[in-house]
Amino acid sequence: MNSAQVIRKLDETVVNRIAAGEIIHRPANALKEMIENSMDAHASTIQITVKGGGMKLLQIQDNGTGILKENLEIVCERFTTSKLEKFEDLSTIATYGFRGEALASISHVAHLTIVTKTVNEQCAYRASYEDSKLKALPKPCAGNQGTQITVEDLFYNVSTRRKALKSVAEEHNRIADIVGRYAIHNSHVGFTLKKQGESLADIRTPPNSTVVDNIRTIYGNTIARELLEVDAVDEMLKLKLKGYISNVNYSAKRHIMLLFINHRLVESTALKKAMEQVYSIYIPKNNHPFLYLSLELDPRNVDVNVHPTKHEVHFLHEDLVLEKIKSAVESKLLGCNTSRVFYTQA
Ligand code: ADP
Ligand code: MG
Repeated sequence: MNSAQVIRKLDETVVNRIAAGEIIHRPANALKEMIENSMDAHASTIQITVKGGGMKLLQIQDNGTGILKENLEIVCERFTTSKLEKFEDLSTIATYGFRGEALASISHVAHLTIVTKTVNEQCAYRASYEDSKLKALPKPCAGNQGTQITVEDLFYNVSTRRKALKSVAEEHNRIADIVGRYAIHNSHVGFTLKKQGESLADIRTPPNSTVVDNIRTIYGNTIARELLEVDAVDEMLKLKLKGYISNVNYSAKRHIMLLFINHRLVESTALKKAMEQVYSIYIPKNNHPFLYLSLELDPRNVDVNVHPTKHEVHFLHEDLVLEKIKSAVESKLLGCNTSRVFYTQA
């Protein structure tokens, strides 16, 4: 018989674990949050070590500012951040983070350890967390300036999430994809991605390389040698566009679009479609271009209050912005088309 059930308030750790599983879906998105933290801390090198597609081990070492010893107690609590104070700050925020949710979430679904050293401290400190809380007082230890965050056994306590994950290889590819994209957009930062125990890195970009160098390192020379630089501004729309796009000689089975809006890695189906349209005149059917586009928009016209898992963006005056990007790309392609014609005539 279907009788009414008693309603109970869920235990706080259960609530937190469910919430955390919604913010952290898979190793790659935990890593994205940590890469952003390292960049917020002004790191110039970021070294990532993974094991088992990041599910066994996900470790990130940076040479950034480090975390103050006295902050180690609360750093993994929910809504603790060094980046935002007032709601109004949101419209001008220049850091990736501001919600103070990432580390807290990770600590609810994995074993998390921080080793960190600031410039004024004599030594580093190591602290381990469970469900947002310190497991024991931070211990002094050896360590370089910066922060190392180790995440082990991701989703050990959320079997549904664990089961939803794809293979080790697939999770590793997603990690490599994220690292590659950030490395291209942040070519001043040196990135390394390694599987634990292997001497050869999967990805290595030196600090202060160029965007094109890093596109070559990550996507290969076939793409890197066919790139056109785009650079456009629109005063009225308060829009700045920079990037590299493949020319009319290049096409591939896979559409690769790296899109950053105000330095955030995002997806825009509308923009992708628009780009397909522009290229369709120049490249064979069912073939696709490569595009790396960095768009700067007036922060007031994009909603920065993005949830960590929301990648698809929408912004004000979207149609006008898309038109502007289309015409910038189109004129580049036209330019390279005429130079090709010119070549054959000469
Ligand atoms: P948010 O980035 O939204 O502030 P996080 O949970 O990602 O929240 O991080 C919480 C806080 O921990 C940050 O505000 C920052 O002060 C500190 N932090 C995290 N990672 C690093 C790091 N790699 N280097 C320095 N500080 C860090
Ligand atoms: Mg963060």
